[in-house]
Amino acid sequence: MGTSVAYHLARRGITDVVLVERAPRLGMGSTGRNAGGVRHQFSHEANVRLSIESIRLFEHFAEEVGTEIDFHQDGYLFLLSSEEHVERFRQSVAMQRRLGVEVDWLTPPEAQRLAPGLRADGVIAATFCSRDGIADPHGVTQGFARAARAAGIEICRHTEVLNISVQAGRVVSVETSAGTIRTPVVVNAAGPWARRIGQMVGLDIPVLPYRRHIFIARPMGEISHPEATTVWDVPDSHIMVIDFETTFYFHREGPGILFGMSDPDESPGFDTTVNWAFLEKVIPVAVRRLPALAHAGVQRAWAGLYEVTPDAMPIIGPAPHIEGFFMINGFSGHGFQHSPAAGRILADLICGRSPGMDITPFAYDRFLKGEGESEIQVV
Ligand SMILES: Cc1cc2nc3c(=O)[nH]c(=O)nc-3n(C[C@H](O)[C@H](O)[C@H](O)COP(=O)(O)OP(=O)(O)OC[C@H]3O[C@@H](n4cnc5c(N)ncnc54)[C@H](O)[C@@H]3O)c2cc1C
Repeated sequence: MGTSVAYHLARRGITDVVLVERAPRLGMGSTGRNAGGVRHQFSHEANVRLSIESIRLFEHFAEEVGTEIDFHQDGYLFLLSSEEHVERFRQSVAMQRRLGVEVDWLTPPEAQRLAPGLRADGVIAATFCSRDGIADPHGVTQGFARAARAAGIEICRHTEVLNISVQAGRVVSVETSAGTIRTPVVVNAAGPWARRIGQMVGLDIPVLPYRRHIFIARPMGEISHPEATTVWDVPDSHIMVIDFETTFYFHREGPGILFGMSDPDESPGFDTTVNWAFLEKVIPVAVRRLPALAHAGVQRAWAGLYEVTPDAMPIIGPAPHIEGFFMINGFSGHGFQHSPAAGRILADLICGRSPGMDITPFAYDRFLKGEGESEIQVV
């Protein structure tokens, strides 16, 4: 989010900007730990609009921003196993189509044809959008950063924000581990740590960190042998398959499979060590949907943090009553893919331009008013 805002400010001619990152490298927070998934298929219209704009930029990233991002548009396949979910998706698909997104309804056998090796027992319907896909989060972050730097924006790594001074209701400076920066504008792009930055200006930002795991499996034993007669029965393409009922998802990653699932027993916290006991809960679900995983070994695993708001919708825009303080937080597990549009919108707001779309679903004050519609297609 930080590099996207910087890039879009630079495009608007605003280069008197410092991006402050406490880590030694960019993208060591949530961005460096995500699954790279990019999709149009959301239930909230505002999210679909963010996707349409963001995917357009991902498709032309090399020409427009100057970096390759390994974007494979092999589609997202949602598997639905209850009438209730089918009904909810019916409404989402109708809205997505109204916005011009091509989404198809598939039968379970059609879904299996798209994702060889998939077992579809209990699945009653599936949705598929062929322009959804997987991209490289590192490439996107570095692409935005390089282009912003080339335009004159400064990026300070190893630099932690310690405090923010507000005088007479206005932001005046940021105290960092490398000194004080006087500025009338501050953007909070601290991902799962957004609430801590908000506390510095006396604002409660309702973003909670939740640990999420990713596992990489490789074929084992006989099927990993070059002359094996048993095949590793998994998709060849990078199609992303999501079992909506269990939240189990997978996609091809090199010769292996990347998979994950949300853990309903996880409490908020900043711990990102791998909880191997959780893998025990994932395996039965994983093997049921993709039986080839029974012949696989988990080669790698890592955990990162989702940055979750109460309605799973992001906060993009100014803070009420603190002039100059802006937020781009709380993307609830889909921030990588929405970073192009979200950064563009925030840059427009900072410049006093119209964001060109209805941004009330992203306003901070929805929490004060108790308003707002939740995003339900979150995994
Ligand atoms: C396992 C997993 C899978 C995911 N899968 C997907 C997916 O498929 N698709 C998708 O779109 N999204 C996915 N996400 C979500 C996505 O990763 C996040 O929404 C997104 O990366 C948020 O970006 P960000 O820039 O806001 O946060 P971050 O990338 O966390 O960046 C915030 C930065 O702020 C820095 N920072 C914090 N506090 C300070 C401070 N005081 N001073 C200086 N610097 C500070 C941190 O070091 C960090 O680098 C996934 C997340 C996880 C954990």
